[in-house]
Amino acid sequence: MYVDRTRLSTLHATELERFRAARPGSATLWEVAREVMPEGVPMLWMAKWPGPWPVFVDAAKGAHFTCVDGIDHVDLCLGDTGAMVGHAPEASVRAISERLARGATFMLPTEDAAAAAELLAGRFGLERWQFTLSATDANRHVLRYARMVTGRPKVVVIDFSYHGTVDEAYATLDPEGRVVARRGNMGPPVDPAVTTLVVPFNDIPAMEAALATGDVAAVLIEPAMTNIGIVLPDDGWHEAVAKAVHAAGAYLVIDETHTLCAGPGGMTARDGLRPDAVVVGKTIAGGIPAGAWGMTTAFADRVRAALDPDGEGLEDIDVGGVGGTLAGNAVSMAGIRATLAEVLTPEVYPGMIARATEWTAGVQAAIDELQVPWQVTQLGCRAEYSFRPTPPHDGREAADADDFELQQYLHLHALNRGILITPFHNMALMSPATTSEDVARHTEAFREAVASLFG
Ligand code: PMP
Repeated sequence: MYVDRTRLSTLHATELERFRAARPGSATLWEVAREVMPEGVPMLWMAKWPGPWPVFVDAAKGAHFTCVDGIDHVDLCLGDTGAMVGHAPEASVRAISERLARGATFMLPTEDAAAAAELLAGRFGLERWQFTLSATDANRHVLRYARMVTGRPKVVVIDFSYHGTVDEAYATLDPEGRVVARRGNMGPPVDPAVTTLVVPFNDIPAMEAALATGDVAAVLIEPAMTNIGIVLPDDGWHEAVAKAVHAAGAYLVIDETHTLCAGPGGMTARDGLRPDAVVVGKTIAGGIPAGAWGMTTAFADRVRAALDPDGEGLEDIDVGGVGGTLAGNAVSMAGIRATLAEVLTPEVYPGMIARATEWTAGVQAAIDELQVPWQVTQLGCRAEYSFRPTPPHDGREAADADDFELQQYLHLHALNRGILITPFHNMALMSPATTSEDVARHTEAFREAVASLFG
């Protein structure tokens, strides 16, 4: 293997020492937290960061946060897209605070809801919107709608995709091509093979074969894979998928939760895609919980007809598996309206994308200089490097390039120099507030880390 494991573990040990010495405040909070929460974190995956204990945050603004030890960080993780708009953007904070002070949740709509829906409709070209607290819920709900109106049992997902904690999507292909639970799938309610067909990204014949079963209610895809490194679609893949899905009478659901990095209307608007439904979430309300899905009028009309076949009203909509008491609450709606109208505007995208281009060039320069067999891929204001020489073509190729030890070292090295990289993979995200100096801090540290391994 080209990575000297002894050297890697020595370097890692040095970085662990550096972390321990610099972060006593986080250590103290973690000790207390461990008494009341497994691993000392409010959600277990927060234990997957590099370092012996998690960094506890004090405050954040724009592209920076300060931890409880007073260290300034350039945040390239941005809450794994939840804070893609930057931390605490003024217009969102103002609208959210004002709404909160006038009441948060009523089980009744506020004026902001239609304004938020209109903003989303304008961006994605889909006419009818519903709101949730998370992208996960939006995915779950739109899949239920698709199964209801088609009367078909199955969902197609892409191998190694991620759509939140959606049971149907926690499936993968085993070496024999069978659908199995994905590694790490905790207590699946049923064998995923019952609910799900899995096809590799960029594989048109596999998609057509899945649809030919006649069992498919919906095909749920990210327009580019972003959760196993970045995997871009081949030319023509989207058009072929849309054609095949529609010919099969199924619904095409495009999850733009992450790919909103590509433009104000995600890849759907940028590339003229043809979904029946679009899912968004994470950053759309400036960092507070909010998700949404949009539907074509035709899809929404079929849902309406299925819910109310006799025209007697929507008697069962509160117990149908689509909902959430706080979904569509007034604060989320105010947050979406202000964030889309005043923060994540079309005007901020060129700057965000330019920062990602700089970041990509910085990473590429180190790869070239030190002749490391890695590659870096950019998608709008998001970019990611992977430990393979050429861009991956599907999720399996991307997954095979994983190197957890190497990744933990690189992330810890960055963290020790005040740079936060998204855990689980090697991704960086640029907010409207991210500057060229912020990017340069990463470029310098990354070169140093790569040189420590290969110089
Ligand atoms: N869709 C995609 C593409 C995602 O990457 C994620 C989360 N990483 C989700 C949906 C789910 O978002 P949430 O966890 O906020 O519900």
